[in-house]
Amino acid sequence: MFTSKFSSNNANAKPIKKRIGLLTSGGDSSGMNAAVRSIVRVAISHGCEAYAVYEGYEGLVQGGDMIKKFEWSDVRGYLSIGGTLIRTARCQSFREHKGRLKAAYNLIKNGIDALIVCGGDGTLTGADTLRSEWPELTKELIKNGELTEEEVAPHTNLTIVGIVCSIDNDMALTDITIGAVTSLHRICEAVDSISSTAFSHSRAFVIEVMGRHCGWLALMAAISTGANYVFIPERPPEAEKWKKEMCESLEKQREAGKRNTIIIVAEGAIDDNLKPIKADDIRKLLVDVNIDTRVTTLGHIQRGGRPCAYDRNLATLQGVEAVEAVLRATPDTPSPMISVRENKLVCEPLMKAVELTHQVSEAIAEKNFRRAMELRDPEFSEGYEAYLSTTFMNNIVPPQGNHSLKIGIIHIGAPAGGMNAATRAAVRVSINRGHKPIAIYNGFTGLLQENVRELNWLDVDDWTSKGGSELGTTKVEANNLELIACQLQKQGINALLLIGGFEAYSTLIKLTEARDKYPAFCIPMVCIPATISNNVPGTEFSLGSDTSLNSIVDSCDVIKQSASASRRRVFVVEVMGGYCGYLAVMSGLAVGATNIYAPEYGLSLKTLQEDVNHLVRRFGADTKRTSSGRLILRNELVSNTYTTDVIANIIQTEGKGLFDSRTSILGHIQQGGSPSPMDRIRAKTFAVKCVSFLEKHAHFSNPSEKMKLPEVYTKDPESAAVIGIKGAQIVCTPVTELAEETEFEKRKSQKAWWINVKPLVELLSKWGYSDNEPIEGDMNIGCDLISSD
Ligand code: ADP
Repeated sequence: MFTSKFSSNNANAKPIKKRIGLLTSGGDSSGMNAAVRSIVRVAISHGCEAYAVYEGYEGLVQGGDMIKKFEWSDVRGYLSIGGTLIRTARCQSFREHKGRLKAAYNLIKNGIDALIVCGGDGTLTGADTLRSEWPELTKELIKNGELTEEEVAPHTNLTIVGIVCSIDNDMALTDITIGAVTSLHRICEAVDSISSTAFSHSRAFVIEVMGRHCGWLALMAAISTGANYVFIPERPPEAEKWKKEMCESLEKQREAGKRNTIIIVAEGAIDDNLKPIKADDIRKLLVDVNIDTRVTTLGHIQRGGRPCAYDRNLATLQGVEAVEAVLRATPDTPSPMISVRENKLVCEPLMKAVELTHQVSEAIAEKNFRRAMELRDPEFSEGYEAYLSTTFMNNIVPPQGNHSLKIGIIHIGAPAGGMNAATRAAVRVSINRGHKPIAIYNGFTGLLQENVRELNWLDVDDWTSKGGSELGTTKVEANNLELIACQLQKQGINALLLIGGFEAYSTLIKLTEARDKYPAFCIPMVCIPATISNNVPGTEFSLGSDTSLNSIVDSCDVIKQSASASRRRVFVVEVMGGYCGYLAVMSGLAVGATNIYAPEYGLSLKTLQEDVNHLVRRFGADTKRTSSGRLILRNELVSNTYTTDVIANIIQTEGKGLFDSRTSILGHIQQGGSPSPMDRIRAKTFAVKCVSFLEKHAHFSNPSEKMKLPEVYTKDPESAAVIGIKGAQIVCTPVTELAEETEFEKRKSQKAWWINVKPLVELLSKWGYSDNEPIEGDMNIGCDLISSD
């Protein structure tokens, strides 16, 4: 996802007093509130003051009550709420000089000389214009007699930092924008529901999604839902051909037995003559070929509502970066935009990003579609190709060297969101490349029972949205290597795709190590990491981990609601993860936990004592009893002694009536139901690349060779690998290399990119102020942070 260089020391950094204004503007998106919460709290923790400007630039122009100093507690409960609580508005007057003059006046009157703006390209442009005009505006205010030279003197410059909030994910120089993933969640939920109706009635649905100049939502929705056709502005179909091609393709699918047809159209879809393609035009075409077709325009439902885990964490981390960017800024540096590149948070020049963004629509207008595609992030065009190769059967590319592989696909270990989506994609790409996908049911136990079958195109049709494991999975490890080798040989399997968690990884190691003894394992083998725990070496994310995070966040929101009603209650919530604290840490950030107990940090009596002191202090300061509950997230294996019950009892006893405590063990609910869009997209990307990997490493032996070898034979260490996400790359790392970074007893990787997130969770729950320092001023009043805060 993304890493932040934030460390807890920042909380103790030398205070730099600055008045930072913040506003949300343009279209609202889910996660804006999380950004506001983070900016306010991180600003305060740096010794700054935070001023929320209501209704975007409208508030800046109007001033007065529309600009309000925010305290720590003003943003409590913000994390889980969609839209923007400090509101947004389109403001015509800010586009004019007069409006910006008033804005400058109000900023100076409030002593604000840094502004963090959250919005789209319009918002960012407006802010940068204000900054560039600042010297003239201030001079004009003095000249008009509205401000004195003394008043203006401390504000010679205006610092601007942009955070991109847009459901369209349409901004250049950043891979993702706040709100886009939540929007995708809503679209997927809607399309999944429509799909079942489409199936029942054997209907086609044309679904229009947002995106006037950007097809990201439409394409990702098509990938995530397994839609049968997609229209996006960046890849317009040929005007002369598309109608006939689409009808023929959909008719062919129907003849093959398909009952439900889903077509996704971006709002701004066009053909290559720039003629708009509208949902109703498509409907008419399909009706003409006797397909019962309806149109659904998803509209504002896509704005999001409750933000998903990804957007909460993205917005929170970007908020931290934005405040730090304000503190780093100099009058000479161009205004920065907080951006995600290569899964890291970086600053990019704001106006360059805006310019490049506009170039996409210009390229489309000039029919330079290749350029439009290039301006999108690399994942976009790769995603489009992957979509084509798993959606249309006519896309056959001859297999490498004209050899066909029999690719065994097996699920191992506990189910995780995305296993079925990965299998579907692997099956379809295999078929399109002339290979045979062989399903091995019920793990290696099933293989030994010869529970094996070739899958066809339609067998896996609706697997994208299915949770669990359609192939069935067992926890039995590959112990009986001889019998497994025998069966692989008997079934003629000459390439193997393992989908699962740490067990799948360790099985792959065993098979690789046994290659000298059993030639059946001298075939290309690749593992797609699929486990909620996110503990498999070789990847920053495993399939299922995002689904699980969302499931935990959903549950915690409900628990929080209960805790809020009871006011003074601390919930100790136990989450899975084995010896890996990923789920605890990242869900802790997304729900605003008070603390996280995870194996990577250990858990001692001293920690518990400090936490109890912290709670006594927080609840004790809440004289008005406005405080709601708090959450502590405990990883299941953090300590044998301090179990969830023991911790809750300690908290209850030490609370001495000031607060009480309850436990909640989330259990298997954490595997999630239907996989999240992120897991579905990752599943497709992994699977398509895995088939290429298997092809690349399938060395076909020469039949004239004297020594009798199987048709496919390789002992190359590179030919047994784990696929994974590393930064912005998808890479296959040989298992032999991964052994070094593996803690086998703890069943996890030594690498944990998220390890430094815990100090931020502590800072956002006001740990930086507690227990060792006297409480002063408004902190005393405002310390009623709640579970989410
Ligand atoms: P978004 O930020 O989502 O692109 P808009 O384009 O509506 O949304 O911009 C939000 C607000 O930013 C506008 O209502 C206006 O106040 C301000 N704004 C947009 N473009 C400019 C501009 N070129 N100059 C000054 N202000 C602008």
